[in-house]
Amino acid sequence: MRYEGKAKKVYATDDEQRYVVEYKDDATAYNALKRGTIQGKGVVNNAVSSVLFEMLAEHGVPTHFLERISDREQLVRAVEIIPIEVIVRNRAAGSFAKRYGVDEGLELDPIVIEWCYKSDELGDPPLNDATAVALGLATPDELEDLFELASTVNDTLLPYFEERGLELVDFKLEFGRTADGDIVLADEISPDTCRLWDLASGERLDKDRFRRDLGSVEEAYQEVYRRVVEGAEPRPIAGADA
Ligand code: UDP
Repeated sequence: MRYEGKAKKVYATDDEQRYVVEYKDDATAYNALKRGTIQGKGVVNNAVSSVLFEMLAEHGVPTHFLERISDREQLVRAVEIIPIEVIVRNRAAGSFAKRYGVDEGLELDPIVIEWCYKSDELGDPPLNDATAVALGLATPDELEDLFELASTVNDTLLPYFEERGLELVDFKLEFGRTADGDIVLADEISPDTCRLWDLASGERLDKDRFRRDLGSVEEAYQEVYRRVVEGAEPRPIAGADA
């Protein structure tokens, strides 16, 4: 194994340009202070992320994704992860709502794109452009690429989720550098890394159910799977107290 993260394991292959990523059911929140298991999450996130990465590639976004090879595994291009978490916010929620003292759900115009330093030890502190460059995390040109790519991902995902009865509130992206120095979208896009609210009821269908002990956690992940992977009609999740 090359690396074990909180939700995924990464394995080397015979080809040094390819890795296998395995999605786990392990869940963490609040910088791993809260830990647990969400049954079936790895299968859901692998499938949802695979569908979204393929769709984004069709819309011109370069990604590390090559192929979903099993229920829990993907074959991806080997990249060096840029240690910047790119957060895109269409509405205020989570740490943003708390930081600025605004209600969750407040529409943001313009949308907000933020950088955080990917460091568990430091609790992913926010970065501005100068800090990211001065710390050697990325070049100014790379930051411009990250901004443009994140905007395109948002413009592509918003209508895609809306057609499936889901409001994309915010999400986190990670990018990597290939051996040739090209920047590609990496990591995952799933209910672990997006806030997704049911358009009809406002029900949360994402990791906030785990973070905030809202119940029906597995059901929420399965509902996202139904809508995104199976193209099924939206239905409310059983037993959710919104
Ligand atoms: N996010 C993530 N990993 C992180 C931090 C945030 O996937 O380490 C996602 C999170 O699921 C949400 C968005 O990024 O969709 C914005 O999260 P926020 O900054 O509000 O932090 P949180 O409230 O999750 O601590």
